[in-house]
Amino acid sequence: EAKRDRLEFAVFRDALEPAPSSTLTLEAALHGALARQELELHYQPLFRTSDRVMIAKEALLRWRHPELGLISPAQFIPLAEESGLIVAIGTWVLQQACRQAATWPGVRVAVNISARQFSRPDFLAVVERALACSGLEPARLEIELTESMLMRSPDAAAELLRSLKALGIRIAIDDFGTGYSSLAYLKRFPLDTLKVDQSFVRDIAQASQDTAIVTTIIHMAHALGLEVTGEGVETEEQWAFLRDHACDSVQGYLLGRPAPE
Ligand code: C2E
Ligand code: CA
Ligand code: CA
Ligand code: CA
Repeated sequence: EAKRDRLEFAVFRDALEPAPSSTLTLEAALHGALARQELELHYQPLFRTSDRVMIAKEALLRWRHPELGLISPAQFIPLAEESGLIVAIGTWVLQQACRQAATWPGVRVAVNISARQFSRPDFLAVVERALACSGLEPARLEIELTESMLMRSPDAAAELLRSLKALGIRIAIDDFGTGYSSLAYLKRFPLDTLKVDQSFVRDIAQASQDTAIVTTIIHMAHALGLEVTGEGVETEEQWAFLRDHACDSVQGYLLGRPAPE
């Protein structure tokens, strides 16, 4: 009797337990999040710097947890990377973003790709399928990769990028300047855009070292025939600086926060 009471109490107590907070329970919950349709995409606009016309939207993943509310990708993407769940999640993100973008007039969609997704042998086929199923014109899809993903094995990466380009999509380097990439390889990769990391944009208007770094990245990118996006633009000063230094597009809270479709 006493044993059963204890057991029942344990079950009751578990039900009352505060929302899962440990990494382990969060990971377990993440396993079913896709099937339970708890994942959703928010979109943040990108604007052409010269006239502030919207040219693209970046898809940013959110997890709407039934008890914890909206969870940011910084909290669960590392878990998804470690467990390999990112592959299924990333495929869903690509499909969902292409499907939604196909209903927008003209504006491009930018999709973040994880290292694990990029290194899968079927990545090209996954992108191809997302385009085919959605009917989205390939030129309206831009995938965002990081320097480290490309530099792990640069020759294989260059070949994959060429196949992706052959589909007609665009390729951007995200958080540019925070990783290690060799300029020699940068020239060999068929890229379209460099996204300057927000850590460089922050103090840009204060005549700091970042001023030199950002203007140099812009010059180099243009010399290589690439476009440049400034990330994390929060003030009019930062926007004016990027406009005056020929940065092609900007993204940041000043112009628009990520929001549901
Ligand atoms: P990211 O790709 O560099 O995305 C930009 C992040 O900066 C977003 O955070 C965005 O909300 C935030 N941001 C935009 N403008 C400003 C600004 O003016 N000021 C500041 N302080 N922040 C700004 P978010 O949405 O929390 O995403 C964080 C990271 O999670 C992303 O960084 C990206 O690396 C990753 N991520 C998001 N969605 C996905 C996805 O679908 N797949 C993968 N693999 N990674 C994703
Ligand atoms: Ca990004
Ligand atoms: Ca970024
Ligand atoms: Ca980032």
